[in-house]
Amino acid sequence: MSSKDSDATKFKTCIYGCNTQIFWNADYNEYWEAYTRKKHICPNRGNYGNKPTSTSSNTSYPYRKGRDSILSKPKMDNSFELLQGSIKEVQKQYEVLLDIIRNHNGKVHGSQRDKDVKTGMLDIIIYYEVPEGQREEVKRIFEFARKRSNIVT
Ligand SMILES: [Zn+2]
Repeated sequence: MSSKDSDATKFKTCIYGCNTQIFWNADYNEYWEAYTRKKHICPNRGNYGNKPTSTSSNTSYPYRKGRDSILSKPKMDNSFELLQGSIKEVQKQYEVLLDIIRNHNGKVHGSQRDKDVKTGMLDIIIYYEVPEGQREEVKRIFEFARKRSNIVT
């Protein structure tokens, strides 16, 4: 038996379907290519290898942890709105604003009021907080509601 024959018997086609003749190189503990005599880095195997190993428990943990912390303790953005007008107008604006803040799971911190003694008009600043990222939407909806219901002076 020549050495060439014994080589031929240990060649096989790569099982990952790349059609390369390979053999097991026991010295390096890896598959080598029959013709290049170099380590076979299979283009197909890389694609197969990544997905099954990443379904282990370590991928679901960070996701669950992040989700839990959002549910239990949302980050809040502080903001305020200046309401102006007669007592009746300001009251109307305040009710609309309060509804919008509540609908966005926010809450009012407090207010600061001022009254123009000459005109009797009120200036009230409403301080509130809404979950992070909701501030712009609250402001937009409030502006829209103010214009639509004509409650701005
Ligand atoms: Zn291969």
